[in-house]
Amino acid sequence: MPRLFSQTRALLGATSFAVLTAATLLTTPSLSHAETSSKLQPGQYVENLAMRRYTEPFVVQQLTDRTYMVSVSTHNATVYVGDAGVLVFDPLSYGYGQGVLDAISSITDLPVTDLVYSHYHLDHLGDAQLFVDAAAAKGADLRIIAPAAVASQVEKYGNVIPVPTDVVENDPGSFSFEGLTVYVEGTADTHSIDNTLFLLEQERVLHYLDTVEPEDFLPYFRFVGLLDIAPMEETLRYVKTLEWDFLNAGHGNVGSRADIDKHLELVADVRNATGAALGQIKFEQFINPATDVLVWVNAFHDAVAEQAIETLRPKYGEDRRFDAAMRSHVEVMTSNLAYFHKH
Ligand SMILES: [Zn+2]
Repeated sequence: MPRLFSQTRALLGATSFAVLTAATLLTTPSLSHAETSSKLQPGQYVENLAMRRYTEPFVVQQLTDRTYMVSVSTHNATVYVGDAGVLVFDPLSYGYGQGVLDAISSITDLPVTDLVYSHYHLDHLGDAQLFVDAAAAKGADLRIIAPAAVASQVEKYGNVIPVPTDVVENDPGSFSFEGLTVYVEGTADTHSIDNTLFLLEQERVLHYLDTVEPEDFLPYFRFVGLLDIAPMEETLRYVKTLEWDFLNAGHGNVGSRADIDKHLELVADVRNATGAALGQIKFEQFINPATDVLVWVNAFHDAVAEQAIETLRPKYGEDRRFDAAMRSHVEVMTSNLAYFHKH
């Protein structure tokens, strides 16, 4: 998810969310760790997470004996508690990283010794320095692990966050943390050039960000900032075949294969509705010698979007995000079909 959304959220955090948070803290002072840490069954959502994540400093959800999903405002991190230290997937940004550190302190006194960068988008990585400092304060050195593609992107963008200390060169590859094996594979899903999935093998937890948004349907604009649609669908079908019980998708609730299926069904519906509109609406009617070809194309795309949205409305119109988000999904589908599909 691009950082703009989070910046907006961070700005809100300075005003209305601060008020909300303060009000919640005052009215629910007894929120206990026990309440937040009972384990989920695969396929189950954290109750009321869609609101709690904005009204509590952090939400901790235990997934397995050692693995947790931590949600702070819009974003999620994965936390694995070892015997000597803690492994964290994504430090988050805009101060949310402090929420992750506070959440870990509510679970264990062990220091965070290992931090993973999942992909270069700074909305998930901007607070990495907080983790370097927190480790130093506990007398530990922080190992920062990144796939080669992520390390390369971090460098290209000027290393505004701490440089990875350990690069996973092979793809697919793996690394170990206190006996835990983490399988690492680049996804080619086109969310970002370096987006990578991480499977905590013994835990059966998958950390794979920014394609589906479990429970938070419809997804973020343009199918979560996608460039090409078909590679994302291919990746998601592949992800379903891996051996995991819980998905941390970086945003939204704890995910399962049902969330992936729902997303793929949406993509297919948007493709069908948009493809039909592209086939039925005649481009020629928008040609006007008094203007310019891009004016005609824009008018054509508007007409396609309007027809496709009306086709999708009976099935998805009740979603509170329909009027906000569906047009962006149709638009990215229009550009994909224009490039890749005969109609
Ligand atoms: Zn991203």
